[in-house]
Amino acid sequence: MKEKLNIALVAHDSRKRELVEWAKYNADALSKHNLYATGTTGKLIGNISVLVEQTNSKTTLIYPLKDKVTCLFSGPLGGDQQIGAMIAEGKLDMLIFFCDNLIMQGHQNDVSALTRLASLYNIAFATNRTTADLLLTSTLLGDKNYTMIVPECIQQYAHRTL
Ligand code: PGA
Repeated sequence: MKEKLNIALVAHDSRKRELVEWAKYNADALSKHNLYATGTTGKLIGNISVLVEQTNSKTTLIYPLKDKVTCLFSGPLGGDQQIGAMIAEGKLDMLIFFCDNLIMQGHQNDVSALTRLASLYNIAFATNRTTADLLLTSTLLGDKNYTMIVPECIQQYAHRTL
């Protein structure tokens, strides 16, 4: 598995705070990768700030993920579909998607389409914080002997005879 991954981050409104806390906790690890996010989620991730103590005992505020995250369209306005397209094009390695499990979204079709593609293409995919922590700390990250397998059914479906 390559060292620098393409990781997408998405959170529904009720879980944005949770994703921001998770990203702040994992900011060091995340900053080593290329990050993509739906618009509003991405803005919040970019604004994460950390107080850093300097040698002269002064403190500065830094934004560890500001220049690391590419903001796509807002999820309900096509951002989920942009991420789905990245998956189908083989351009995404990991999706962290904190979705609201209690209410249906106006863009529920997009949510279902995105989670379906993440599952179909066998990318690393977390919908909760514990799994996201485990994914980001996996010993397989950076292991050159590990390759993500693209399921055979995709090629079979693409070349099916009709
Ligand atoms: P948002 O989109 O980050 O633009 O709010 C998230 C979503 O898909 O609902």
